[in-house]
Amino acid sequence: MAASFQGFRSLIENSPDAISLIDPHGEVLYASPSTAKVFGYQPEELVGRNGWDLIHPEDREHSSRALQELLVRPAGPLQWHARVRRKDGTYSWVESTVSNLLVEPDVQAIVVNHRDINARRAAEVEKQQYAEELARSNSELEEFAYTVAHDLREPLRTITVFTQLLTRRTQMDGDSKEMAKLIVDGAVRMSTLVEDLLSFASTGMPGEPKSVDLQQALAQAMENLTLDIQASGARVTVDALPRVRCNEIHLVRLFQNLISNAVKYRREGPPEIHATAEQRGPEWVIRIHDNGLGIAEEHQARVFKPFIRLANRDVPGTGLGLAVCKKIVEGLGGAIWVESELGVGSTFCFTIMAEEEIRPHCTPRSRQKEMASAQTAAS
Ligand code: ADP
Repeated sequence: MAASFQGFRSLIENSPDAISLIDPHGEVLYASPSTAKVFGYQPEELVGRNGWDLIHPEDREHSSRALQELLVRPAGPLQWHARVRRKDGTYSWVESTVSNLLVEPDVQAIVVNHRDINARRAAEVEKQQYAEELARSNSELEEFAYTVAHDLREPLRTITVFTQLLTRRTQMDGDSKEMAKLIVDGAVRMSTLVEDLLSFASTGMPGEPKSVDLQQALAQAMENLTLDIQASGARVTVDALPRVRCNEIHLVRLFQNLISNAVKYRREGPPEIHATAEQRGPEWVIRIHDNGLGIAEEHQARVFKPFIRLANRDVPGTGLGLAVCKKIVEGLGGAIWVESELGVGSTFCFTIMAEEEIRPHCTPRSRQKEMASAQTAAS
């Protein structure tokens, strides 16, 4: 017995952390030599003192609660953070790992391992300040983009309308007509970019969250895309989708961007698009599968960044659609990614927290029929 206690003692005396043995009331029975390095006190200055006196008043309650828990349920060490007063009067953030060895005949004490985590805390605080600063400057940038995009709408409309009027009202030769057409085409392209920028910038703006049926959000997105879906001959099938709590406009936009891409980036033949939902613990994984062009592996993460376009320039777009999707999904605490094979098709997947269980009476087949009739009604 004595030999094993000696082994235990040499282990704690050589540890870089300050180790102390305390009784259930917090009185220090033993303090290791490292205590001098970590807190500035010589071990003999601590023995006989009550350790609670050294803990910052704001940290006493949670430390005391943790210790009580350890006294009731001795199994396994507990760990918590608290500020401890050093000999020079300053406080150090300390991570305490505490084991209840009161019933161990060789120890009969509570063993506390104190590790100075000041540097770690400072890094965490700095990281948090940096994240807050980044979020603030991002939101300022978004507001700026929103204002600029908003204010550009009007002059662009003026350019388009008056160039068209000019073409109609004046005698123009072929070259001049061609130039006027180029002006109008350029202004229309710029309007699309402005609208997409507005959409991107306003995605982060707070909206009213409410209970949203994803099924309905998807039906609305398809309704908004009726012309494109019909022109391409796309067939969209949808399994039962859950309800979630979010901003409905954002969800419609998310589905609209994904389905519109599935239609735009198609191969020969009509697009086949299929939406599914799978519950994974507290969240849902929603998948939009298509049989389109596919995306090579090296581009699969890039396509979610603003202004990244892989397709040839004939396909209309601004490269902002998937960036908007990413912002929407991440704003709801989820993740978005794509699984794809070039020349075979893509599956865009996103996660979203569930609000309630999927409605049992809605079988995939009945839902597909509902969607089909929604589609017919829209056309
Ligand atoms: P946009 O469609 O305006 O170009 P997006 O951000 O929506 O912008 O998409 C970025 C790029 O990702 C597209 O230009 C296209 O190359 C690729 N992409 C998006 N969706 C698909 C898809 N379903 N199939 C194949 N490629 C896609």
